[in-house]
Amino acid sequence: MHDYDLLVVGSANADLVTAVERRPGAGETVLGSDLAVHPGGKGANQAVAAGRLGARTALLARVGDDAYGRLLLDSQRSAGVDTVGVLVGGAPTGVALITVDPSGDNSIVVAPGANSRLTPADVTAAAGLFQAARVVSVQLEIPLDTVAEVVRALPADTRLVLNPSPPAPLPAEVLAACDPLVVNEHEARVILAGAGADVPEAPEHWARGLLALGPRSVVVTLGGEGALVAGPEGMARVPSVKVDAVDTTGAGDAFTAALAWRLGAGEDLESAARYAAKVGALAVTRAGAQVSYPTGAEVAAL
Ligand code: ADP
Repeated sequence: MHDYDLLVVGSANADLVTAVERRPGAGETVLGSDLAVHPGGKGANQAVAAGRLGARTALLARVGDDAYGRLLLDSQRSAGVDTVGVLVGGAPTGVALITVDPSGDNSIVVAPGANSRLTPADVTAAAGLFQAARVVSVQLEIPLDTVAEVVRALPADTRLVLNPSPPAPLPAEVLAACDPLVVNEHEARVILAGAGADVPEAPEHWARGLLALGPRSVVVTLGGEGALVAGPEGMARVPSVKVDAVDTTGAGDAFTAALAWRLGAGEDLESAARYAAKVGALAVTRAGAQVSYPTGAEVAAL
C-alpha cells in the first residue's frame, strides 16, 4: 500500500520579481517596480501542482530557517502537500532574483542556498518516503550526487520521472532509470549535444536520439505545440489544448507533475500526457507559477 501517489525531490526557491523599463548593464543601477515575492523552484512547483490536482503528494527538499522558508512551507501546506520531508536549516532558503522588462524578457540570478545542501545523506535518511511513494519525480536544481542517490534509493516497483532542468550531462545509471525523461526543446538539445549525439531538427529525431541514451521512455514538451511521447510502444504526438496564453512560467513543472501522477495511477504514457497537456494549458492562462496551477475539478471541466 502506497501512502503517496507522488514524492517530489527537488528545489524550493523564493522568486523575487521586479519589473524594469530596461534590464541593467554592467555597473548600472535601474529602478524597478515594487518587489513581488512568490514561492517557486522546480521541486516546490511540481509538488504544489500535484497537490492541487488531488494527488497525495510529499516533498523532499531543503529550505532555510527564515521567512522565505516559511513562505514555501505555507504554500506547500495550502496545496495539501505533506511537508514531513522538507528539511529546515543549514543555509538560507534558495532565492531567484528576477527582472522582467516590458517585452517580457527576463534576467534571472539564482542563489541556490539550502538547495545545494540537500545531500545524498538526506535522501538515504528519507528511505521511508521512498518506500511509501508510487512515483518519484526529480529535477536538477539540487546537486547531481543527490539525484544519483535518488536513483539508488528507488524501490524496485517505484517509477522515476526526471526533468533535467537546468540541463546537465547525466550519468548512464540516472538516464537508465528514467521512465520517462521529460525535456523541453532547450533541454533536449543540451542533453543530446552533451552526450556527443547529433542534434537533428525535428522533435521526432530528438526523441529517438534521447531514447538511444538509455531512458525507458521520453517526453518532449513543445509549448503551444503540445508534446511528443516515445517509448517501447512507439511514438505519439499529443496536441496542446488551445488557450490564450498569459504567462508560461512554470508550465513545464505543472505538466511534469500531472504526468507523473497519472502514470502512477496506471495510465499509459500517451493518456497521462493528454491529461498533463490540459494542466499545462490551464497553467499558462494565469500569471505566476504555483498560483496559476489548476485544481482537479478545473481540469475535469476543461
Ligand atoms: P517548459 O515550461 O518546461 O519550457 P513547455 O513550454 O514545453 O515547457 O510547456 C509544457 C507543456 O505545457 C506543453 O507541453 C503544453 O502541453 C503546455 N503548454 C505550454 N505552453 C502552452 C500554450 N501556449 N498553449 C497551450 N498549452 C501550453
